[in-house]
Amino acid sequence: MLIVDADVVQVERGLRAGELTCPSCGAVLAPWGHGRSREIRGDLGARLFVRPRRSRCTGCQVTHVLLPEVVWPRRTDAAEVIGAGLEIAALGMGHRRIAAHLGLAEGTVRGWIRRFRRRSEDVRRYFTVALVALADDPVMPEAAASPLSDAVLVIAAAHRAAAMKWPAINTVSPWAFAGRAIGGRVLTCTLSAS
Ligand SMILES: [Zn+2]
Repeated sequence: MLIVDADVVQVERGLRAGELTCPSCGAVLAPWGHGRSREIRGDLGARLFVRPRRSRCTGCQVTHVLLPEVVWPRRTDAAEVIGAGLEIAALGMGHRRIAAHLGLAEGTVRGWIRRFRRRSEDVRRYFTVALVALADDPVMPEAAASPLSDAVLVIAAAHRAAAMKWPAINTVSPWAFAGRAIGGRVLTCTLSAS
């Protein structure tokens, strides 16, 4: 699995031009049909249909689904929706109220928060390094009330720094940016092969 641009035309062009490389061995990825279609819940109850492109490595022969950055692996909610929930959690609100606010099941939101809490130290560390690398004059966010809040703040700071450096990033939400940067591992540390 590989997280790619949400622009399917751009991805198709890159794939055909041999610009995408295998996350395991670095060889060129070739087009290889499509992954299964999935329905994603977007903002304000919007329904997004995603049919990700599949690719096959010309080196190790492993197939990789090219998942658009608006989606995270094994999640039926868009990255932006989950990210909005995590941002509210960072302010100290509990999962029940967040679920009511987003119009989603409590168990779903509790699951995101629980997973992100387990990942928060790794995520914080990764985006702190990214922030230092991206910003000319990096300003570290002040320590927040919880590791979860620290992780949310540093993702936002790294996204701002990336948008200063590459203005095109401005059109991408901080959560799509985060997923793309760490290969979709915002809520999980392992990914399926395809
Ligand atoms: Zn490979």
